[in-house]
Amino acid sequence: STQVRLAQRPVGEPGDDTYDIGPVDLPALADGQLLLRVVYLSLDPYMRGRMSDAPSYAAPVAVGDVMEGGTVVVVEESRHPEWSAGDVALSYSGWQTHAISDGTGLRRLDPSRAPISTALGVLGMPGFTAYAGLLEIGKPQAGETVVVAAATGPVGSAVGQVAQARGARSVGIAGGEAKRAALTEEFGFDVALDHRSPDFAAELAAAVPDGIDVYFENVGGPVTREVLRHVNTYARIPVCGLVSSYNATSAPEGPDRLPGFMGLVLRKSLTVRGFIQNEFTASHGRDFVREMSGWVADGTVRYREDVVQGLESAPEAFRGLLTGKNFGKLVVQVSED
Ligand code: NDP
Repeated sequence: STQVRLAQRPVGEPGDDTYDIGPVDLPALADGQLLLRVVYLSLDPYMRGRMSDAPSYAAPVAVGDVMEGGTVVVVEESRHPEWSAGDVALSYSGWQTHAISDGTGLRRLDPSRAPISTALGVLGMPGFTAYAGLLEIGKPQAGETVVVAAATGPVGSAVGQVAQARGARSVGIAGGEAKRAALTEEFGFDVALDHRSPDFAAELAAAVPDGIDVYFENVGGPVTREVLRHVNTYARIPVCGLVSSYNATSAPEGPDRLPGFMGLVLRKSLTVRGFIQNEFTASHGRDFVREMSGWVADGTVRYREDVVQGLESAPEAFRGLLTGKNFGKLVVQVSED
């Protein structure tokens, strides 16, 4: 197997020296074990947190360990009664080409139902994050205005489309003209904005004449500052991620904005609620699988994937994820499917 291990904890953007890439010999299979070959490795923003030992909701990857990550795998060899060679599964085998498993945590995938990569995106963790966070915390109502940034990514694109399926008006924000165009043309957002436009503030104001009822927070930073100017009384803000600051090494310049923000929460009776998607697995997991698979199958929810080739591409692709170079759900094709 080839592995990508965490060589040291990065400061700021994770450079090549963050990783140590090399081969490792896997032992022969024991009874009850499986040899997994990774087909797709998911790259997700949360991985920046796992590289760091700052306080978080999950323990960091230990220096020297294989980087964590969701994968779609094929069983190459099995000495496990429930699995056969050729079976396809969702796994959490991390940044490596092969792994040995005892079957724990593997979820069987049916390749005839949906492309297997979707188990890492629209029909997997990011799609679930959008679905549960939006419906449980955002509670979009028909006719309301829902705003989301990083809107061509797997979370943002699903947020906008699920909001529309509930009868709300969706405003998507993305970086650059190609992504902005895709928001309306590919994903069917009602309005699309480019946060890099010099007129972003005015364009946002024009896009939300009735104010904002739900702001699904993916990014933080200057985008959020502008969005907050337009929130309505009783607006809901599911706080899902703050990707603009994941590589930050110091607090942003400028005045302390916390009193102003708390004043806004008070005056507008806002609901601001952070969440980690897995808290909703028990309550929303089944509905998600049923509803989202139906929407993907009938075209109500469309998705886009950005596939990079080869495990050795993962470090560069991951840097791009935190700076907006990816266009759609970022996955690494580690081997042929
Ligand atoms: P994306 O594929 O959307 O990738 C991240 C995107 O963030 C980039 O493509 C870029 O899009 C945007 N971005 C990066 N830097 C900035 C910036 N400075 N300002 C504005 N936008 C920026 O990722 P995901 O869909 O996987 O994740 C979206 C968010 O959801 C992340 O914050 C992630 O951490 C969070 N998340 C939270 C979970 C939870 O349980 N709470 C679970 C899963 C994800 P663009 O070029 O359009 O600006």
